[in-house]
Amino acid sequence: MAEYDYDLFVIGGGSGGVRSARLAASMGKRVAIAEEYRLGGTCVIRGCVPKKLFVYASQYHEHFEDAAGFGWTVGETRFDWQKLMAAKDQEIARLEGLYRKGLENAGAEIIESRAVLTGANSIRILATGREVTAERILIAVGGAPNPHASLPGHELCISSNDAFHLTALPNEILIAGGGYIAVEFANIFHGLGVKTTLIYRGVEILSKFDGDLRRGVHKAMVDKGIRIITGDVIEKVEKTEKDLVATTMHNGEIVAGQVMLALGRDPHTKGLGLEAAGVATNGKGAIIVDAYSRTNVPGIFALGDVTDRVQLTPVAIHEAMCFIETEYRNNPTSPDHDLIATAVFSQPEIGTVGYSEEEAAKAFDELEVYRAEFRPMKATLSGRAEKVIMKLIVNAADRKVIGAHILGHDAGEMAQLLGITLKAGCTKDDFDRTMAVHPTAAEELVTMYTPSYRISNGARV
Ligand code: NDP
Repeated sequence: MAEYDYDLFVIGGGSGGVRSARLAASMGKRVAIAEEYRLGGTCVIRGCVPKKLFVYASQYHEHFEDAAGFGWTVGETRFDWQKLMAAKDQEIARLEGLYRKGLENAGAEIIESRAVLTGANSIRILATGREVTAERILIAVGGAPNPHASLPGHELCISSNDAFHLTALPNEILIAGGGYIAVEFANIFHGLGVKTTLIYRGVEILSKFDGDLRRGVHKAMVDKGIRIITGDVIEKVEKTEKDLVATTMHNGEIVAGQVMLALGRDPHTKGLGLEAAGVATNGKGAIIVDAYSRTNVPGIFALGDVTDRVQLTPVAIHEAMCFIETEYRNNPTSPDHDLIATAVFSQPEIGTVGYSEEEAAKAFDELEVYRAEFRPMKATLSGRAEKVIMKLIVNAADRKVIGAHILGHDAGEMAQLLGITLKAGCTKDDFDRTMAVHPTAAEELVTMYTPSYRISNGARV
């Protein structure tokens, strides 16, 4: 039998790669993990974590305003971008340190370099030129922002990566896209005082979500003062003396200090040596894997965003744990991608799990939709006009709740718990016999006793 330098070589120190390396090393496997940038990957370094910190920062001006209704007088307030960046950087460095420590404690070797495949069992470490061999190779290199290379002037635009390193906030920003990143950052920049425009090609933002929530978040954003242009795209971006000018197809020119592209993320597979190893990819460059994260090359595995299954951190971590179960614990386990709860940290927030009403109407004959729209208690004194929307989609045939959607404060937190109920196959009757927690917004989820409307063979009745 061939003798390899490592039992497992992981390329990519993000959520999926680090979890795999740490678990395998803690089982006594000889593990190396190569990372070309910083340990923690997109989520920790330039994604979920710093984004959520920015979301918190961007909400304070509303908190200050709301306080008046509760008897507070808030003095002069001022926001300091440099201070936020420094605090954010410090926290990210702390988390990166924890990732490093976890790997070191487990006994994994950390290689701070780009690594590329040179064969089915071999990898070249570019920093040193050294070639090493491994019995198993795991590719967990994630994704990178779609640069929209066909857009003239795309090189003048920033991506979410750059948004975390801006030296100063622009006065105005134009954000292209209507997905998670575009919507979250539009709210962040607006909340921090930047005049914000979002431009989206489709009819309504957040194309993958329930229609009610899409319309609700759109309205709430516009009411706050964010300009949303739908049915339009940027055709070119040019630089003037002190600004950028984006020419749109239907809405003329938009002048902004920054233009941000948030048009999806591509698998980060270019130049990875996949051809040398014979690893197959799809048309988007994503590595093709089977239900056990196995590529077409025996011994080479891939998981997380690079496989373009579901681009979410918890999914990559789950796939990593399944990989370890399957390959090192003799317990074949394939990741379960069904009913993934998710949140969009827009303002107000979206929390959702399961079928949207539109998807459910196509997939089921008879549905009951329970829907509530109300002003949250805090808004009664603060005077804020924001509404909460809650919605349960029920399959009439077996009474199972197949979709749960929330727009409003802490919707992400609620979605996590709703995810358990849908995963457990709870019926509407289970919801009905659950005592309410009072006074909360979430109690509405267990007190919507009569359907707001029904959907029969795709049509609302
Ligand atoms: P999304 O897939 O969410 O959205 C991409 C957006 O870009 C869509 O509105 C899409 O339009 C639009 N688009 C794509 N190509 C073009 C084009 N050529 N011209 C104009 N518009 C275009 O991607 P994001 O970049 O927002 O985020 C990447 C992924 O990261 C997300 O899918 C998500 O999985 C993950 N993420 C998760 C977060 C969370 O959990 N809170 C936060 C941030 C990111 P259309 O809808 O019409 O296709």
